[in-house]
Amino acid sequence: QWLIDLFTELSQRQQGSAAATEALRARDAATHVFWPFHSPQFPLMVTEAHGSRIVDVDGNAYTDCHLGFGAQALHGHSPDAVVEFVRDQLATTTGNGYCTPVEAQLVDLLGEFVPHCEKFAFLNSGTDATAAAIRLARAHTGRRMVAKFEGALHGVHDLGMHNTAFWYHGHPTTPFPGNAPDGGIERQSALTGVPVADPHDLLVLPNDPIRAVELIERHKNELACVITEAASSSFPFVEHTVPLLKAVSERCRALRVPFILDEVLTGFRYGPGGAAEYFGLEADLYTYGKVLSGLGLPLSAVGGKAALLDHTQTSGLPLTDIGRKTCVQTTHAGNHLALSASYASLRLLHEQRDTYYTETRTKVARVQDRLTAFRTETGIPLRLVGFGDFIGSFGFLEKESYDDYRAFAGAVNPIAFFLLTLMLRRRGFYTLSLPMLFTGGAHSTEDLDALVTAVTDSARELDGHGFP
Ligand code: PLP
Repeated sequence: QWLIDLFTELSQRQQGSAAATEALRARDAATHVFWPFHSPQFPLMVTEAHGSRIVDVDGNAYTDCHLGFGAQALHGHSPDAVVEFVRDQLATTTGNGYCTPVEAQLVDLLGEFVPHCEKFAFLNSGTDATAAAIRLARAHTGRRMVAKFEGALHGVHDLGMHNTAFWYHGHPTTPFPGNAPDGGIERQSALTGVPVADPHDLLVLPNDPIRAVELIERHKNELACVITEAASSSFPFVEHTVPLLKAVSERCRALRVPFILDEVLTGFRYGPGGAAEYFGLEADLYTYGKVLSGLGLPLSAVGGKAALLDHTQTSGLPLTDIGRKTCVQTTHAGNHLALSASYASLRLLHEQRDTYYTETRTKVARVQDRLTAFRTETGIPLRLVGFGDFIGSFGFLEKESYDDYRAFAGAVNPIAFFLLTLMLRRRGFYTLSLPMLFTGGAHSTEDLDALVTAVTDSARELDGHGFP
């Protein structure tokens, strides 16, 4: 009865959204209505977004903890300074495929944030950026094998998706090859359309420094690169992943195997210089996306050593490069409006740089303290696992920390989490229906205080009904 009441209440308050998204569904036209991570049972038709607030077609307002998959985490939706700058540029936009002053200004500004990058190539998405980084490493080494950690997501190209949990932590709806516990790899491949990787193309590393380093040493002559991620959305325990990445990056440097740090999630968020600066991780190539852009416009970048980026850039007369270059650029890569939004958004961050990172960390630490007190007081094992300004994974976890990816993947209860997201919706918070919350400068202390109250009240209610 409790579940029926919850479902009925949400259906009634979102009648306009239900009708409008049903029309999309009927026309097979929606990208997000069908997506399981958006609670397709209760889709929202969003009509307004400003700061941390979104409003649906029924007039319900929500504090947004989705923030465009985290892309709007820095300043929230539609910050005035960014909107104004992009509006001005729109009047004379070149579209794409031209060098513009804004691009040069952005590159200068990026130099302030990530001085460890000698050059950049701009692209559209995190997926493009990691695919491009892999291609550059392959072109640089003349080898084809890519090593990635089990469970790590690097975008939706085949190698990026292989063996990923895609944040569903073993949930059977996303059995990408190598990840799902049942069914066998051939069946997972047939279901998902992601081919079983050729062992010459992919080496999956365990989240264990000794075994990972051993495997890298064994394949040192075949490896084009090792691609990694510090926040690992599917294994978000930096106390474990950072020493692991340090050991692996040092070994890669000694063996001259290019090391790629995927900063799509962490770039400009863990600190001005991302996870690389914060944790002291050195890579050959870095990939950026998400908050790199402003206003949620699509933009990503590969940055890093000139020696690798030069495989796609022509610095001399084209004739001297004939037959010696690869290509990673696409039609809309680094388009003028996305570069403009990025420039205005990062300029704003740069102005706030002395306070942004300390303030957001203080806000998130306050969330963690209140949740720790809640766990101690009630014994309900609700945890937010995150770092820096980023709350990250979130759910009912018995242990404080996990050093084994598979143990963590198995510990998350997706059903309890799904119900929690619906209960948060009822209390005025929008999240994806997967164990992940996005937050950052977009949220005020009041937003986060209200979020903790909503989360703990919901957890008490769930506990009262026998969950998790
Ligand atoms: N790499 C990481 C670490 C990510 O978290 C994501 C997406 O969330 C990607 C790559 C892919 O980025 P995009 O969704 O922009 O293609």
